[in-house]
Amino acid sequence: MSERMVKQFMEMVKIDSESGNEARMMEYLLAEIPKAGGEAALDDYGNLIATFPAKGCEGKEPVLLSCHADTVKPGVGIEPVIEDGVIRSKGDTILGADDKAGIAEVLEAMRVSEVRPPVEFAVSRQEEVGLLGMKNMDFSRLSAKRGFLMDNDTLDTIVIGGPSYFAIDVTITGKAAHAGMEPEKGINAILAASKAIGALRLGRLDHETTANVGVIEGGLIRNGVPDRVSFLAECRSADHQKGQDLAKEMERIIHEKVEATGAKAEIKVDNLCRAVSIPEDAATVKIAQKALAKQGIEAKPIFITGFTDASIYNNQGIEMAVVGIGAKDEHTTHESIAVADMEKALTALIEMLRLSAE
Ligand SMILES: [Zn+2]
Repeated sequence: MSERMVKQFMEMVKIDSESGNEARMMEYLLAEIPKAGGEAALDDYGNLIATFPAKGCEGKEPVLLSCHADTVKPGVGIEPVIEDGVIRSKGDTILGADDKAGIAEVLEAMRVSEVRPPVEFAVSRQEEVGLLGMKNMDFSRLSAKRGFLMDNDTLDTIVIGGPSYFAIDVTITGKAAHAGMEPEKGINAILAASKAIGALRLGRLDHETTANVGVIEGGLIRNGVPDRVSFLAECRSADHQKGQDLAKEMERIIHEKVEATGAKAEIKVDNLCRAVSIPEDAATVKIAQKALAKQGIEAKPIFITGFTDASIYNNQGIEMAVVGIGAKDEHTTHESIAVADMEKALTALIEMLRLSAE
């Protein structure tokens, strides 16, 4: 079963699906899911929702499995290489084990599990760019009240919660002028942005709070005073109030520093998800721990300052534990996954399904 799973995984990582460009990957899944015994359709936003019938039991509540179809960059033209039982990219791209290893494991589990409740399988788009797919998921198509998100890297942790997340988009407008002939007529938007960014508190601010500026763009020519700069910032905290206060602080500082230079700042703050966690002894967590223990893995429940689709599920009242797929160094060109770890994740998943049918 692992050979078939690995083959399918290699097939899937070769399908380019950087965030926003998941259509071909979804088409592939629409064709593959019936072969694994399920039925699949897309919602209006392009997320995929599939159902698989129960096996070896009757009248059990459905369980939800979930993955995301998109990858981070650089994710175009991935060539997977397998060496000494470890799969990596050729080195110039990510591998895309995050989250296609999860998808491969779910599809194989659907083919081979003998005892399971009805399974709903949701594959979101644009997870890596702010959970946009899950934010737009058609929840009326899901009936499961609990399940497992296959999107944690290591097998020895189970993610039970994530932070509040604020995306902050900033556009600064100054005034263009010739940099040599009449610089005094200009207002330098790059300088304004620098002053604002330099004044922000960034990095890890306390044990549960972080802030970052990740993208900056602006200016056209060396000898022009630039009139436009935009940058993308974010902040997160396990404490919703703290996150909200920090987003406000960032907004205030940006306005203050930019306006002091005579430029204008337009700021859009979007609270993409609210801090949420499920109890350490939630049914899904216990089931995942039990299944992993059978593989000799002691999995600890953890709260992360990263965020996953589970934050949105949990906000929607669907109890989702985030379990490992076995990948390493996600979001880098060194990303890898050992076939042995994929097998462990698969065996644990099959056991989770069996335990969910008890
Ligand atoms: Zn992921």
